[in-house]
Amino acid sequence: MTTAILSALIDEQRHLLDRLEAPQRVAHAGRGFVTGRLHGHTLVLALSRIGKVAAATTAAALIERFGVSRIVFTGVAGGLGAGVRVGDIVVASELLQHDLDASPLFPRHEVPLYGRARFPTDADLSGRLAEAARQTLAQADGWLDAGLRARYGLATPALHHGLIVSGDRFVATGAESRALQAELPEALAVEMEGAAVAQVCFDYGVPFAALRTVSDRADDAAHTDFPAFVRDVASHYSDAVLGAWLRMLPNS
Ligand code: SAH
Repeated sequence: MTTAILSALIDEQRHLLDRLEAPQRVAHAGRGFVTGRLHGHTLVLALSRIGKVAAATTAAALIERFGVSRIVFTGVAGGLGAGVRVGDIVVASELLQHDLDASPLFPRHEVPLYGRARFPTDADLSGRLAEAARQTLAQADGWLDAGLRARYGLATPALHHGLIVSGDRFVATGAESRALQAELPEALAVEMEGAAVAQVCFDYGVPFAALRTVSDRADDAAHTDFPAFVRDVASHYSDAVLGAWLRMLPNS
C-alpha cells in the first residue's frame, strides 16, 4: 500500500523529503514525485504547485500512475473562522470550492452534476491525523524552536477540525475575508487546492485527509505574513504531525 503526501509548495514538505529513505525521483506530467520509505510506510511525496487544476492533475497522477491507496495533503492556509490563528492547525472534515458558482442552474457552490458542494474527507484517516496533530501540538516545545514561536507569536497553537474552503484566489484583503466568512460561516480556513483533491479522491474512491497550518489570517497582512512563515515554519509542522500520523498507522 502506497501513501501519497501532497503539498503545493516545497517549503510545505521539505523536512519530510529530507528524511525520506531510499528516495527515487520521478518526473511525470511536468511535476516532481519522489518515492521512498518513511516510518514503516511506502510513500510518494508530490508537489502540485498552486491552484485547483494543478492539484487535481497531481492527485489524478498519484492515483493512476503511482497507484496510491490514500492521499494526505499538508500545507498552509489562511485562517477564516474566529479564533483560528496563525500557527494553529486545521484538519478538514469536509471541503468546498468557494469560487464555484453555476447558479441559477445549480445552487451556489454545488459542483454541477454531483449534487453536492461539500466533499468529505475519510473519517478514519482524518481522525488519526487530528489525533496526531493534537499530540504534536501538546509537545510543541520539542520541535518548534522557541525563537520561531516568539517571532510568529505561536504561544499555544490550537487544533481545529471542520470545513476548509478552496478557490483559485489568494485571499489577502480584510474585505474579501469578511465576505467569505459571511457567505460560509462554518469555514475555518481558506486555501487553493484541497477541495479539488477531495473531488478527485471522491471520483476514484481513494481515502483523503487534509491538514493545513494557518500561515496568515487571509486579511490585508496576508501577503506579508505568508512567505516568511512558509519558509520558516510550515515544513516543521508537516514533519512533526505527519511523522506522528505515519507512526500511528499500521505499517504499509
Ligand atoms: N507568494 C506565493 C504564493 C502562494 S499562494 C508564492 O509565490 O509561492 C498561497 C498558497 O498557500 C496556496 O498554495 C494556498 O493553498 C495557500 N494559502 C495560504 N494562505 C492563503 C490565503 N490567504 N488565501 C488562499 N490561499 C492561501
